[in-house]
Amino acid sequence: MTAVHLPGTPVIEGGHLISTNPATGDEAGRLPVATADDVARAVEQARAAGQWWAGLGFDARRDRLLRWRRLLAQRMEELAELVHVEGGKPVADALVEIVSAVEHVDWAARNARRVLGPRKVRSRLILAEFSAHLEYQPHGVVGVIGPWNYPVFTPIGSAAYALAAGNTVVLKPSEYTPVAGQWLVDTFAEVVPERPVFTAVHGLGDTGAALCRAGVDKLAFTGSTATAKKVMATCAESLTPVLLEAGGKDAMIVDADADLDAAAEACVWGAMTNAGQTCIGIERVYAVEPVFDAFVDKVVERAGRLTVGADGADVGPITMPSQLDVIRRHIDDALARGGRAALGGPDAVRPPYAHPTVLVDVPEDAAAVREETFGPTVTINRVRDADEALTRANALPYGLGGSVFGRRRAVAIARRLRSGMASVNSTLTFAGMSTLPFGGVGESGFGRIHGEDGLREFARAKAVTRRRARSPLPSTTFERTPADVDRLVKAVKLLYGRKP
Ligand code: NDP
Repeated sequence: MTAVHLPGTPVIEGGHLISTNPATGDEAGRLPVATADDVARAVEQARAAGQWWAGLGFDARRDRLLRWRRLLAQRMEELAELVHVEGGKPVADALVEIVSAVEHVDWAARNARRVLGPRKVRSRLILAEFSAHLEYQPHGVVGVIGPWNYPVFTPIGSAAYALAAGNTVVLKPSEYTPVAGQWLVDTFAEVVPERPVFTAVHGLGDTGAALCRAGVDKLAFTGSTATAKKVMATCAESLTPVLLEAGGKDAMIVDADADLDAAAEACVWGAMTNAGQTCIGIERVYAVEPVFDAFVDKVVERAGRLTVGADGADVGPITMPSQLDVIRRHIDDALARGGRAALGGPDAVRPPYAHPTVLVDVPEDAAAVREETFGPTVTINRVRDADEALTRANALPYGLGGSVFGRRRAVAIARRLRSGMASVNSTLTFAGMSTLPFGGVGESGFGRIHGEDGLREFARAKAVTRRRARSPLPSTTFERTPADVDRLVKAVKLLYGRKP
């Protein structure tokens, strides 16, 4: 018989973390809670396995990662169902998430050698008697701490790149989605059964903190800004390098020459997919005055058509029950400050659901504009022009992604968004583009996953110079003569003392 708990709230019982469905409270699975000693042991085992994994080399690792990619692709419906049951995410959204994760595994596996492998780099005239070599070596053990909202995409965004680079990985999934995390490591072990190359430890925040202290060589964190600060402070104790993918409050800018139907469609999806629980979700829109009213009408019409419910609906339950209070507070505050609900409003929050809500003309100091809402809500404010839109969009400490709709100036506007990523005439697409780096600025964190930068994030540059001839102008030896140094100074003046 399955136990029934308060919907969505994880419970610890008999040393096990019990994951529950946010819509029904039914148990989705249970996993043993790792103590600090268990975590330290997992890291130790990963370190021992790392010798073997790194020693396999790029090609053998690529083959194994591609086998895992194949398994993920073949069993994606099974994983999507599990993500749906555990986190409440609609199955279609879960499938889209998994598709993106599969793409990242494929790209990381295929490109690690090209990006990180040993290569000769050019010498400069001043040290022409030396050759230069560069390679990127794995850090060792990478700890990955993940959130619940994208329980497949976010851990894989770090883990696949770390593994391809030759690291072993210990994952601490969110307490809300441990079953999905365990599924990932179990399937990896099916294709790499030899050693514990990719493992998971489960528990609450203190298990994450234990992972930060367990001697990992790098910690890749994805989650809220508040926890990112704690993780960085804990890792500072041992100077463990961190990669922080934190929260966001992404803006969309709609310019006068935008395709308004396309913009409205993308706005509704960007704001309300996964019930708005998306770090790079569109939470605020700035639309220029001439198109404002038409754009709002189109958004309201589309958002009003979304269905809300547990199975087969467009918008599923809110995964963390406590988030419902945040969503309600943001709506109430926006309305109290003079904003208007063009859709939804004060009664939009009906646990465990939040219904689509479109808030317009909301003052910029409202919580709904300044703080992460993480619900199927969006604010739409009117602006004079794209410059004013940019000033407002860039006014927050967050800077994760963003979106611009328009023709003539859209790319130029996207470049001026203070964010790590931007999509022009679409939303969120940069996340699935495995050739592009993903990460934020300011309170959205630092470091990059995905793409070439994402591979380098999980490796350290190793530089080697090799003498290939005697030095014509010896200087880095006590055998040098004053004449050698004179000649060197003259050579440098000749080379670099000229007008550029
Ligand atoms: P949290 O910050 O609450 O948790 C993230 C992870 O950190 C969880 O596994 C959590 O464990 C763990 N954790 C909690 N406390 C500590 C601690 N002291 N030391 C180490 N680890 C700890 O975020 P959520 O899970 O609620 O995820 C939502 C947030 O993630 C949003 O702010 C969202 O914007 C952000 N996010 C960012 C993304 C990005 O790429 N920039 C992508 C996706 C989400 P436990 O769950 O057990 O508490």
